[in-house]
Amino acid sequence: MNKITRRQFLYCSAALFSASAIPAWAARPSGAKPGNEYGKEDVSGRVFRGDAPEKPWKWSHEGLFYDKLKNDRVICGVCPNRCNLAPGDRSVCRSKVNIGGTLYTLTYGNPCAVHLDPVEKKPLFHFKPRSKAFSIATTGCNLRCLNCQNWEISQVRPEDVRYSELFPKEAVEAAKGVSAESIAYTYSEPVTFFEYMIGTARIAKEEGIYNLLISNGYINREPLLELCRVVDGANVNLKSFSDSIYRKLNGGRLQPVLETFRTMHEKGIHFEITNLVVPGYADDQEMVKRMCEWIVESLGPDHPLHFLRFFPKYKLNRLPPTPLSTLTRFRELALSGGIRYVYLGNVPDNEGNNTYCHNCHKMLVERKGYLIPEYNLTGNRCKFCNTVIPGVWDEGGPGPV
Ligand code: SF4
Repeated sequence: MNKITRRQFLYCSAALFSASAIPAWAARPSGAKPGNEYGKEDVSGRVFRGDAPEKPWKWSHEGLFYDKLKNDRVICGVCPNRCNLAPGDRSVCRSKVNIGGTLYTLTYGNPCAVHLDPVEKKPLFHFKPRSKAFSIATTGCNLRCLNCQNWEISQVRPEDVRYSELFPKEAVEAAKGVSAESIAYTYSEPVTFFEYMIGTARIAKEEGIYNLLISNGYINREPLLELCRVVDGANVNLKSFSDSIYRKLNGGRLQPVLETFRTMHEKGIHFEITNLVVPGYADDQEMVKRMCEWIVESLGPDHPLHFLRFFPKYKLNRLPPTPLSTLTRFRELALSGGIRYVYLGNVPDNEGNNTYCHNCHKMLVERKGYLIPEYNLTGNRCKFCNTVIPGVWDEGGPGPV
């Protein structure tokens, strides 16, 4: 039995008893409003001029993948935003600052959310069913989705939420202490806490714990290749299949995300794709058809695709939820287009929650919420027709409830 410190015990207790993605103690910062309200943004409306702290603090760590320029400027190379910061500036993701010509991340060992989640919640349906993922997040995101579910932590600065301390080694010990099989980097956007994530993931790998990346996929190739060395599974969000919608709805671009999928596929990482069907933005049938064609042509038929139902949130709180008929139609379209495993999310008690063998079409995994009443795989094969099912499965079937 691993010993855990009192602090880790408290973290994990909070995690075990919590059902929501954001813990109650990740308090909304006083006076925080949705949007870019901190500091003075530059003309492109992206980085925050003159908003860095004067000196590094306890959870500061020099950034990885950055270049020093003339006049003490720095340019971050972690994500396609490539923030170009003068001394005193803060990045688009709000997590990085230029202090005296050095790029610092401010979130190293400084999570604002720590939970123990079923892996199905990520969602990951083809990765160690029913296992537990020790889930961590810091503040920050490199996109600006109008429908963000987690804006209270994704669209604020690290110093604006109630902070915690969990350095990489402690995070791995805490995960072991609650018998989590994996650590998930999740909730906000882990690309923006890249240094903390990779520091933790390397230790986790050595300790035999899986690493799960739950991300928007907005990352440059070099840091992604570094991550691919330690990541075992991922869920990456493909927000739409249109660059103009990416710009309008998410404040990003489509092409870098497609490159992320290609790279992860080329590296043999197990990943699943999530597509949130936002009415009026990402619900055009022709676009979804093109997206499915691209997936099959570029990534093959085996990466599971999850269509998620939208509910009104954040700046899109006046839109209606996605009609169930739209989701069902998209699922059928994706299946007939050749994607073998297509799911519906945020739609309870629907056959789109279950896994069916792509060969004999019998039910392999029945899901009721996060419960699995029926399981018909033997190792990684269909129990009925012996077909290999893509994913990372347990030899002995899913663990106990
Ligand atoms: S990770 Fe953050 S600091 Fe780096 S380029 Fe992206 S938004 Fe800018």
